[in-house]
Amino acid sequence: MLTVNAYAAESAGSRLAPTTITRRDVGPKDVLIEIRYAGICHSDIHTVREDWGPVQHPLVVGHEIVGIVAEVGADVAKHRIGDRVGVGCMVNSCRACENCLAGQEQYCLNGNTGTYGSVDVDGTITQGGYSTHVVVDEDFVLHVPESLDFASAAPLLCAGITTYSPLRHWNAGPGKKVAVVGMGGLGHMAVKLAHAMGAEVTVLSRTLAKKDDGARLGADDYRATEDPETFTTLANTFDLIVNTVSAPLDLDAYLSLLRLDGTMVNVGAPPQPLPVTVFSLFRNRRSFAGSSIGGIRETQEMLDFCAEHGIVPDTELIDASYINEAWDRVLASDVRYRFVIDAATFA
Ligand code: NAP
Ligand code: ZN
Ligand code: ZN
Repeated sequence: MLTVNAYAAESAGSRLAPTTITRRDVGPKDVLIEIRYAGICHSDIHTVREDWGPVQHPLVVGHEIVGIVAEVGADVAKHRIGDRVGVGCMVNSCRACENCLAGQEQYCLNGNTGTYGSVDVDGTITQGGYSTHVVVDEDFVLHVPESLDFASAAPLLCAGITTYSPLRHWNAGPGKKVAVVGMGGLGHMAVKLAHAMGAEVTVLSRTLAKKDDGARLGADDYRATEDPETFTTLANTFDLIVNTVSAPLDLDAYLSLLRLDGTMVNVGAPPQPLPVTVFSLFRNRRSFAGSSIGGIRETQEMLDFCAEHGIVPDTELIDASYINEAWDRVLASDVRYRFVIDAATFA
C-alpha cells in the first residue's frame, strides 16, 4: 500500500484540510497515476456537504483527474509508464449488464464504482483526486491527447463529458438551436462544445454579467433569466435545452422555450425535486430528460473531439491551500469557469 497526501473534510460542515490516505497495491490490471491536476466540480461540494444524502467522512473528493502513469500492473495493455492519462467520475462497473456491454457504464445496472465515496473491490471506500496519486483499473483510465494543455484538460473528465454526452445524444449540430442554462463549469463547456458541433447556441444566465465571455466561448445569443421578457421573446424556440444549474428552477418556464419535439435535459443535480406541470410537456410534445456523465468510450471520444477542435475549459489554477476559498467562490457562482488544483501542492 502507498500512503499519499490528500485533502479531506472531517464532516459535512467542516473545512477541507491536509491529510494522508492509502492507495491499494497495483494489481495486474491496475495503473498507478501520479496526479498532476484535479478540477473542482460542484458535485464535490454537494457530496461533502451531504446535499444528496449521508457519506462516510473523512472523504477525499475530486473526479476530474489528469496525471502521469507511474507504474503499471503485469497485465496492463492500454497504458505505459509516462503516458498522460485522465480519470473521471467512475473507476469501475460490473461490465456484464446490458448497459455496461453497450458502453454505457455510467448507467451500470449494478451501480458503477464512483471515483469517490463508492465501495471498491477490496471493500474500502474509494477516495478521489484531491490527492497526489491514485490506483485505477486500466479500463477506466483515459488517454489525454498531447495537444491539450494538461492543467486545463482536467475538467473535461467531468464537466466536459457531462455536457458532451447529452449534446451528442440529442444531436446538437447544424440547424439545431441549443440553449444552455447556467454558465458555470458545466455550462461554459456546453457552450464551447455545442458551438464546435455547429449548433446555434444561446446562454440563459441569471444576469448579463458574463455576456462578453459567452460570446467569446461561442454563444450566438445571451439572455438574462431574471428578465421576464426573455421567456416571452424566446417562447417555442429551442430544439434542446441543457440545464446545468445546481439549484431548483421553475421548469415550466424553461419548458415553454422548447419548440415542437424539443427536449430539456437536466444535468444539474439540485437535491430538491423539480415539479413539472404536464401541460408544459403536452404543448409542442416536449420531453424532459436527465443525463449522467458519459461512458468510457464516449469520454475518450470527447477528449479526442476537444483535441481536434482545440477546446479546453477556461480554468483558474490554484494551490491546495486555496480549496476552501475556491469552494466558497463556486457556491457564490464566482468561478471563471473551473478551478483546477495543482497536485504538487498537496505535498
Ligand atoms: P457551477 O460551476 O457552480 O455552475 C452552476 C451554474 O448554475 C452557476 O454558474 C450559475 O450560472 C447557475 N446557478 C447557480 N445557482 C443558481 C440559482 N440559485 N439559481 C439559478 N442559477 C443558479 O457548477 P457545475 O460544477 O457546473 O455543476 C452544476 C450542477 O451539475 C451541479 O448540481 C452538479 O452537481 C451537477 N453535475 C451533474 C453531473 C451529471 O452527471 N449529471 C455531472 C457533474 C455535475 P449563472 O451565474 O450563469 O446563472
Ligand atoms: Zn463532476
Ligand atoms: Zn453494469
